[in-house]
Amino acid sequence: MRVFANPVGPGTLWFDNLATADGTPVAYDPQARGFIPMPPFCANREALGCNWIAPEPGSLCRACAMTTVVPDTTVADAIPHWAATEAAKRWVIDNLGRWHWFRPEDPGTRPSFHMLAEGPTPVQMGHIDGVVTISVAEADPVLSTTRREALQEPYRTMIGHMRHEIAHMLWWRLSLRADFLDAFRAMFGDERADYQAALQRHYPDGPPDDWRASFLTTYASAHPHEDWAETVAHLLHLTDICDSVAAGLGTTVLPDPRWDAYAEPDTARLIEVAVPIVTGLNHANRAMGLSDIYPFILSPVAQRKLAFVHGWIRRGAQGL
Ligand SMILES: [Zn+2]
Ligand SMILES: [Zn+2]
Repeated sequence: MRVFANPVGPGTLWFDNLATADGTPVAYDPQARGFIPMPPFCANREALGCNWIAPEPGSLCRACAMTTVVPDTTVADAIPHWAATEAAKRWVIDNLGRWHWFRPEDPGTRPSFHMLAEGPTPVQMGHIDGVVTISVAEADPVLSTTRREALQEPYRTMIGHMRHEIAHMLWWRLSLRADFLDAFRAMFGDERADYQAALQRHYPDGPPDDWRASFLTTYASAHPHEDWAETVAHLLHLTDICDSVAAGLGTTVLPDPRWDAYAEPDTARLIEVAVPIVTGLNHANRAMGLSDIYPFILSPVAQRKLAFVHGWIRRGAQGL
């Protein structure tokens, strides 16, 4: 994801900002791919924190309008979880828009999202005929981490779910093309293989021992459809990490690789090098739906304190 220009003053805006640093409300225009300081705002702005513009006052933005089933808001935390889910969806829809998917120039079907809260029974996420079903409960970090550990997955986030499930929808769109299916089957295998039987085999048996030779994840080895979805999700991860790091780093020239951070005596120089690096890494983590690697602000006072401790600590234990 890129970093955006502030339309009303200096500085930059992140994709999910609702206001500038000085509090001016702004909205993201997904068609122009930029921020504007005026309504019409999406009707979900107050309730869900959606910062996109709407086509007319009181209506939903392009992304929120794709949600055709909303969660049962009487379930605990359904609204904050739904808000986080819509944020991940906006991010991925905007990513795909860079390749013209689901924009006005795309004449094809849009995905329709069923956003479901979870009761005692887990919601099965998936895609059927253009409908993507998402469990908003997966926005809860405790639930997500518990499931990630139970399934022995290295990575599980809402942005990852969005990329995976929308990938199934993209397969469905592409399968309408005469030239897609033969090429797909030559690369991934025949998707007409019994899906339920494949999953029933996958869960007790696990992946083949040599799965790493052919698949990005163990789940990808379950069935050609899952291999496709996992592979598309990873293409989106890698492209967006590159886009985000490049945008986050900006134009700052990084030091020579031989530069030794521990030998640097100038705290201002250390901070000057560190800020674009942590900004780039934070932005890359956002591309993966992970927490910022360095979620702190270096105020002028904090920088003076850092210079003070830098001076004392880098002397080492000499003279003690
Ligand atoms: Zn919206
Ligand atoms: Zn899948």
